[in-house]
Amino acid sequence: MRYIEPHGHMVSRTTDDYQAMTMAGCAAICEPAFWAGFDRKSADGFYDYFCQLTQHEPKRAAKFGLPHYCWLCINPKESEDVALANDVLALIPQFLKSPTVLGIGEIGLNKNTRNEMKILEQHIELAVKYDQLILVHTPHLEDKRKGTRLIMDALKANGVVKPERVIIDHVEEHTIGEVLDAGFWAGITLYPESKATPVRAVDMLENFASQRVWLNSACDWGVSDPIAVPKAAQEMRRRGHSAAAIDSLVYGNPVRFLSQCPNFKDPAALKS
Ligand SMILES: [Zn+2]
Repeated sequence: MRYIEPHGHMVSRTTDDYQAMTMAGCAAICEPAFWAGFDRKSADGFYDYFCQLTQHEPKRAAKFGLPHYCWLCINPKESEDVALANDVLALIPQFLKSPTVLGIGEIGLNKNTRNEMKILEQHIELAVKYDQLILVHTPHLEDKRKGTRLIMDALKANGVVKPERVIIDHVEEHTIGEVLDAGFWAGITLYPESKATPVRAVDMLENFASQRVWLNSACDWGVSDPIAVPKAAQEMRRRGHSAAAIDSLVYGNPVRFLSQCPNFKDPAALKS
């Protein structure tokens, strides 16, 4: 099988993970900018992180034959510090020139605060100004539905953002319907302990139209599984889904969404 990992925090992973993903059929990896597990003290920390995402990690992935792309932003958690967030926002345009950048993300909300909302709106404006795709992180557990609605309202209020150029990630059973009905793409994150398990993800896929859905592992520095996407594909196979349906979900859908960014190249086209 072949698949795209559309959301993996590879700077936190070992080369063994790259090896396992390649062997499981991974054809490309996309890495959103996110929280590092600790709050950075200055914009310099983000400058280095953006260099890592745009220059160093693609080289590491290339050793395993994997194209590596990234998204740029200051994550919602660290956006609570508005002064820091403004300094980081000012750094982003120079990095948007890098040939492997896909857009602005993962932006969104963490605790649904006023400061987070202010910086979310500025990220949306930046994406519009530079004609970038948007990848959205939605809050955890009890804050998720409210946060998802606030984020969708902010995207709509901008007035220019096209929903088909936005993916709202970490959807769950109680948010996927609203996200798809509003015309956005939806990402289901497969985590061993929270978010969705492969079984829950496939249940959702059987209950909602899946043309605008992607699956990802969001593997990072915490408890997560870099080969969760092929495990969900295996669950689909067990339930009798066709090879074509699985391929279109785990490969075709991310390629369709990401190809809206000229920097993204369909790995199948690259090989032919
Ligand atoms: Zn993430």
